[in-house]
Amino acid sequence: MPVFSESNFDDHEQVVFCRDHESGLRAIIAIHNTARGPALGGCRIWPYESEDAALADVLRLSRGMTYKSAMAGLPYGGGKAVIIGDPSRDKSEALWRAFGRAVDMLGGRYITAEDVGTRPADLEIVRRETAHVSGIAEGGAGDPSPATAYGVFVGIQAAVAQRLQRADMAGLRVAIQGLGNVGSALARMLHDAGAELYVSDIDELAVARAVKEFGANTVAPDRIHVLDVDVFAPCALGAVLNDATIAGLRAPVVAGSANNQLAEPRHGHALWQRNVLYAPDYVINAGGVIWVSHEGPGFDAGRVGAHVARIGDTLSEIFARARLDGIPPEIAADRIAESRFKRTADKAA
Ligand code: NAD
Repeated sequence: MPVFSESNFDDHEQVVFCRDHESGLRAIIAIHNTARGPALGGCRIWPYESEDAALADVLRLSRGMTYKSAMAGLPYGGGKAVIIGDPSRDKSEALWRAFGRAVDMLGGRYITAEDVGTRPADLEIVRRETAHVSGIAEGGAGDPSPATAYGVFVGIQAAVAQRLQRADMAGLRVAIQGLGNVGSALARMLHDAGAELYVSDIDELAVARAVKEFGANTVAPDRIHVLDVDVFAPCALGAVLNDATIAGLRAPVVAGSANNQLAEPRHGHALWQRNVLYAPDYVINAGGVIWVSHEGPGFDAGRVGAHVARIGDTLSEIFARARLDGIPPEIAADRIAESRFKRTADKAA
């Protein structure tokens, strides 16, 4: 299996392959960059079809965490862990303990947290083996989704101010794809601010709730991105901005919580050429990681909320830089993030 020549390998500081025969653990922990602090990032458990696929995922996700934390101004670097396994079948106390020991061996260079397939109860077991765990109930901050939604809300405000020169949300038409933890909280905030909502979800109950509570208009899942609205907010799947969807997109702003919205980097360029303002996903959806990073004694929801609200200012800065340099916003965002973690590394040297 190539590692250094893997296309997602980006000078990661450390990649650890963890095996525990008795529990069946097969995990990879990737530490991308620790210039700003210990590498923070969740542990994903997923039935990867190959070890190569697991490696590609952990390399890509850990790199993304470096950028996300740097952009959010957090004293953390980027890391991630993946466990090859089926979350509905392969989780056990022995597995989580073995994973906890693997995390502990890194001596705090990597701090683990929740991700796809992981629940707070799993992390409680991990914590019996290592202190390097974040996002668990005791002294914890709780569900980060409302904070993520709030970050997306202020991000939409910033994007709309930039692209549509609109300062208020009254009457703003927003299409939300996905009414899960984040999408439903976002719908509530937008509704309270007077926006007109268009929603889709494959879960009919979630849609029915949004219709009842927010007077939302229902849209079929395969039509949500083609609506003639002001904002398209992807809050469900990754890779939703691709050749097929971009061709039909009519909203001048794309701003939502989903991770990895661009199917490929070139799709960011395609949006920019069409004069669609895209709010880079790892910037606008950082509310959750900001929330979790404040965890611990003295947690103050008001102070954390103010930190999340700065996502709006950060996006405005990115949009301004993009305009000035004549580049798409996600490229401008990467450059700003890189200057932050590379500058810190230079200082340390
Ligand atoms: P969730 O699982 O609670 O919600 C996702 C929703 O999308 C579900 O209701 C699901 O039925 C719906 N969905 C799935 N396929 C769909 C389709 N084809 N069309 C329309 N709806 C569809 O997840 P979440 O926690 O709300 O997160 C949403 C997105 O935001 C994910 O991409 C996640 O990675 C990202 N994100 C979440 C957080 C957080 O704090 N929860 C933080 C950062 C990023």
